[in-house]
Amino acid sequence: MINNPYKKYYSIGDAALKRIKHAEAKLKDRFASLEAIRMENQMKVLKAMQDNGLSQSDFYAATGYGYGDTGREKTEAIFRDVFRAEDALVRAGITSGTHALATVIFALVGHGQTLFAATGHPYDTLQEVIGIKGEEVGTLLERGAKYEMLPLEHGKINLAALPEALKTHPRLVLLQRSTGYTNRRAFTIDELGEAIAVIRKESPESIIFVDNCYGEFTETREPLDVGADLMAGSLIKNPGGGIAISGGYIAGRKDLVERCMNHLTAPGIGKDTGLSFGTTRLTLQGLFFAPHVTIEALKGALLFAAVYEDMGYSCMPALSDPRSDIIEAITLGTGEKVEKFCHAVQQAASVGADVLPMPWDMPGYTDPVVMASGGFIDGSSIEVSADGPMREPYIVYYQGGVVYEQVKLACLLTVESLNQLNV
Ligand SMILES: *Cc1c(COP(=O)(O)O)cnc(C)c1O
Repeated sequence: MINNPYKKYYSIGDAALKRIKHAEAKLKDRFASLEAIRMENQMKVLKAMQDNGLSQSDFYAATGYGYGDTGREKTEAIFRDVFRAEDALVRAGITSGTHALATVIFALVGHGQTLFAATGHPYDTLQEVIGIKGEEVGTLLERGAKYEMLPLEHGKINLAALPEALKTHPRLVLLQRSTGYTNRRAFTIDELGEAIAVIRKESPESIIFVDNCYGEFTETREPLDVGADLMAGSLIKNPGGGIAISGGYIAGRKDLVERCMNHLTAPGIGKDTGLSFGTTRLTLQGLFFAPHVTIEALKGALLFAAVYEDMGYSCMPALSDPRSDIIEAITLGTGEKVEKFCHAVQQAASVGADVLPMPWDMPGYTDPVVMASGGFIDGSSIEVSADGPMREPYIVYYQGGVVYEQVKLACLLTVESLNQLNV
């Protein structure tokens, strides 16, 4: 008989192994439907690479202004086709998801114009960009723009209240697909499509923009497929496949992408400059793996949901909920459990497994956050990672895992660790 490798290498006890086995048996059908999503998205990506004639010479690094950097041009054409956009920006110099989103906001919302958040206050770091939190200079509000927000209703987009809220005809309407640090599940593409239809009808001139972070490749369609004008995200999350070393993307309507690029570089220069600094191969290889890796992470999130619901914890999304991002939020109830959980996840890391994560005051967050993160790309959350703000009701957010076997190890280690707490 083959020794169970989790037992053999990590001395995981039988009780934890049994729990995971039981959960996996329940997940058979769910995993099978994820395989179908993976298949379609993989073909979408592969076809876009072929259609754009990707070749070895595209991986050579240009210098100087970067005119005629064919690798950069093809990367953007491939992302454009994969996301069925009119145009796309994909730049290693976009330092984070926040930078990609802020670029869109600053490029499109001018003095006296309004940014309207239709899915409640946006992600924590964007609140600083807008200027409703923190005391930074150069925020949207400081520049004389206006901000309005429609709260969610029981975790759903308040469609009934949207028409009234849109009476001011905002310049930009922001929808956030993923959970962020909240306790609602991600909005599915169908749900986003419903909201987009209402916005389009009530305020046709508004630009509809989706924060697509953590959502890419979790379904076969993306926000642009259901009428969004623009979307943006980070390359060290889903679309970078754990391989892209940095960067972000913006995709959608051509005229809007051009405005974003003029903001990022300068009017008159636009998309024609900007070195890829030799990142083309890694960015595209990451995109090539992204559909596969995203489904590994989704399978992992489902495993956590099945195991932790079984243990009596409240999970968001619940095991039976539809999914549109890779996050699993588990309400553990105490700070001690959040810390233990993160320590255990860190022990499953490929890089820095010996690090002991401690709560710290992260820039952009009001409460100390404890973070488990140990991948090949520093801070990448498409790799095995977890984090939890030290505040009631003590939720831990688990995400990522480019290979399912490693997520399973992370899950086993957390179960063992929490079990020890109970004895
Ligand atoms: C991660 C994330 C961001 C910001 O991305 P960073 O790369 O951390 O700056 C914005 N919105 C959502 C929903 C996210 O998950």
